[in-house]
Amino acid sequence: MNIPGSGLAKGLAVTLKTMTKPVGTQQYPDVAPELPPRSRGVIALLEANCTVCMLCARECPDWCIYIDSHKETVETPGAARTRQRNVLDRFDIDFSLCMYCGICVEVCPFDALYWSPEFEYAETDIRDLLHDKDRLGEWMPTVPAPPAHDPMGEKSKEETSAEKKAL
Ligand code: SF4
Ligand code: SF4
Repeated sequence: MNIPGSGLAKGLAVTLKTMTKPVGTQQYPDVAPELPPRSRGVIALLEANCTVCMLCARECPDWCIYIDSHKETVETPGAARTRQRNVLDRFDIDFSLCMYCGICVEVCPFDALYWSPEFEYAETDIRDLLHDKDRLGEWMPTVPAPPAHDPMGEKSKEETSAEKKAL
């Protein structure tokens, strides 16, 4: 049975304990937390890899990726025909809607999206949680390096086929 006021007393006890913690026991924001390397903090965009295939925007369950592009004609010297390529005009992610499911990062066939563990991008205006391609690109240097190659792991297809050719 709950004694009236016991919840409040417990809460005050926790507050008192935190307030009287010995100096030196520092917590966030004074000390940055040690996050696992695969933490889902924010999504970074490597713009050069994006082919505007739209797969991420189509698969996003929240419809919070907004992409615009235009076509550009590329003339290659010596080629019989010109070819067309997509140029990215807009790539925004609305982090006020994003649920950090990671589907966009998983489905991108061109390795243009990455998870960064950075999480300090809270805003006082919800509209500022819409990150454009430049802002998403600024997160790229914070993306952790991929894990080192396992020397005992399975060889890549490229290595195996190169070995077959050499025989
Ligand atoms: S993490 Fe999920 S919700 Fe967020 S932008 Fe990617 S697909 Fe959409
Ligand atoms: S899936 Fe990748 S390549 Fe395709 S539009 Fe999205 S970020 Fe660009």
